[in-house]
Amino acid sequence: MDNPRRAHIKPYLFAMELPYIEPHKIKMVETIHTSTLKERSRWITEAKYNLFKLTSRQVTVDLLTDSGTGAMSDRQWAELIQGDESYAGSASFEKLRETVRELLGYPFFIPTHQGRAAENVLFSALVKEGDVIPGNTHFDTTKGHIEFRKARAEDCTIDEAFNTTTDHPFKGNIDLNKLETVFKSVPREKIPFVLITVTCNSSGGQPVSMANIKAVSALAKQYGIRVLFDAARFAENAYFIKNREKDYENRTIREIVLEMFACGDGATMSAKKDGIANMGGFIALREEDVYQQACTFNIMFEGYLTYGGMSGRDMAALAQGLKEAVTYEYLHGRISQVRYLGNKLLEYGVPVQQPFGGHAIFVDALKFLPYVPRKEFPAQTLAVELYKESGVRGVEIGTLLADRDPVTRRNRYPKLELLRLAIPRRVYTDNHMNYTAAALANIYARRNFIQQGYRIVREAPIMRHFTIELESAEEKTVLC
Ligand SMILES: *Cc1c(COP(=O)(O)O)cnc(C)c1O
Repeated sequence: MDNPRRAHIKPYLFAMELPYIEPHKIKMVETIHTSTLKERSRWITEAKYNLFKLTSRQVTVDLLTDSGTGAMSDRQWAELIQGDESYAGSASFEKLRETVRELLGYPFFIPTHQGRAAENVLFSALVKEGDVIPGNTHFDTTKGHIEFRKARAEDCTIDEAFNTTTDHPFKGNIDLNKLETVFKSVPREKIPFVLITVTCNSSGGQPVSMANIKAVSALAKQYGIRVLFDAARFAENAYFIKNREKDYENRTIREIVLEMFACGDGATMSAKKDGIANMGGFIALREEDVYQQACTFNIMFEGYLTYGGMSGRDMAALAQGLKEAVTYEYLHGRISQVRYLGNKLLEYGVPVQQPFGGHAIFVDALKFLPYVPRKEFPAQTLAVELYKESGVRGVEIGTLLADRDPVTRRNRYPKLELLRLAIPRRVYTDNHMNYTAAALANIYARRNFIQQGYRIVREAPIMRHFTIELESAEEKTVLC
């Protein structure tokens, strides 16, 4: 009232809250491949009902993974041109090392070609036969690298993580009682580290709270055990801390990230996730002696210490990607889009895991397709249906992924049978999310008519989901 210049806003009593917008605009586009139901039915049959065997041209919206599928920014592309390809001492390496030091606060840095390579190098130095590595649900390659060394990964995630409907803001948290039980029952020298995966990919991209990170760190310190991070989605985790945890709403993402990593002694990173790079990874460490040991393995497996399997240009683009990943604007756009898809599905009544994770939406296939027997793989059945309906490619996170028990050779039935829709970073628009949600809504409307799934024709002894061949369970049932 007092300020006449502001008088013009007074008469409006109603004002809409402006929606989030993508924090970028599009400079270059890539054509999307459309197809008919008839074509897709043929392609998926030829692919033996395994979505990994489809070519990208047969896929319309590809939500198979958010790994290495992000869109680089104009600044990242500019960095590519400036890449320094010197074998030793490249300027691009220094740029990446300094960026990681600044963000995570660890003095020692080793580049690798991707996340599992960082695990291979670091675990070669730290993990021995008979060791136990407790943590929240370990990622499959992480578990693979632990078990390959005849050590054991102990899942200490809180129980709430395994119920898709209970509301808990930090379902990636570690249960301190479970963790202490491991500390008490295993000799200290057999626990090389506790591993905190941020966000927890295997339990649905669920975040870990700062309070939990601090508590795990304090407990580990008490027992003299180091804490490492699997940092693939560290920035998304920091975003959830800022939005969901008391006392952090006014802190910047960078401050939160520094505080998280201050609770640990090192990290492995798949830069194909929050690095917004198409390839890359690294190890960051606080302890010099661990760094020295890892250096030897890096030279053996990855390459010399100033490139470790990455080209100079890739290191330069990754440094820029990491800087963008820790901005609130980027994270808000990214995670809002994931939430947008989740909310659309909820609107249609589709059962999805809640709260939504950072990088993906998980559809609960046991609730979605209650008539498909578990031995006929309900989540895979749903993935095939979604592909046929729309050309959208998701991925089964269920019995096929869980492999057989190594001893009994029986199928391992995990607690959850999920269809994961992973959202690539900065690639799709909200309309692609609308399309995906509408396709699932259509299948949901006819869900009770879907009563049969698939049966295995051929499978590999481990990691079978990548190459498995299936046939419709219907065919033979009809005959008998
Ligand atoms: C992707 C991922 C890895 C492995 O990284 P790659 O780059 O695929 O080798 C490890 N841990 C987590 C949590 C991941 O999401």
